[in-house]
Amino acid sequence: MAQTTQVRGDGKKVIGLTYKDRNDGQMYDVDVAGIFVQIGLVPNTDWLKDDLQLTRFGEIEVNSHGETHLPGVFAAGDVTNVPYKQIIIAMGNGSAAALGAFDYLIRSSVEDEAAA
Ligand SMILES: Cc1cc2nc3c(=O)[nH]c(=O)nc-3n(C[C@H](O)[C@H](O)[C@H](O)COP(=O)(O)OP(=O)(O)OC[C@H]3O[C@@H](n4cnc5c(N)ncnc54)[C@H](O)[C@@H]3O)c2cc1C
Repeated sequence: MAQTTQVRGDGKKVIGLTYKDRNDGQMYDVDVAGIFVQIGLVPNTDWLKDDLQLTRFGEIEVNSHGETHLPGVFAAGDVTNVPYKQIIIAMGNGSAAALGAFDYLIRSSVEDEAAA
């Protein structure tokens, strides 16, 4: 895994990239004529790690109904372990999770009434 630490230029254009190899900590320089920046892959879920089951990438684990391992807690979109981080996928997941939550609430209120 490479951690980019510097994009180098000559005052006019990009000429190179410096990165750290995360495995051994070694620094490397590569000469390049341009770069493409890809951002937004790390989920902001650190605050959930004690309550929800996360993948090793920090994604919230959900089933096909958007349910997490904590009953009554649902999640959807890029923050989950569902593959393909795209808008249309996140929208579909959001709908499924909303229906999953609806289903959960209906069932729990029926169970509450039966217990009363
Ligand atoms: C550079 C880039 C380009 C992309 N291009 C495309 C494309 O062309 N087509 C495509 O289909 N998809 C594209 N995507 C992916 C697309 O943006 C995502 O799949 C989509 O936005 C996921 O929606 P989401 O609601 O799950 O998450 P997000 O849109 O990321 O929404 C999550 C929201 O939660 C907020 N948030 C985070 N933490 C907290 C917190 N602790 N408390 C409260 N709020 C919080 C964030 O601020 C954000 O507003 C691109 C993504 C990136 C980064």
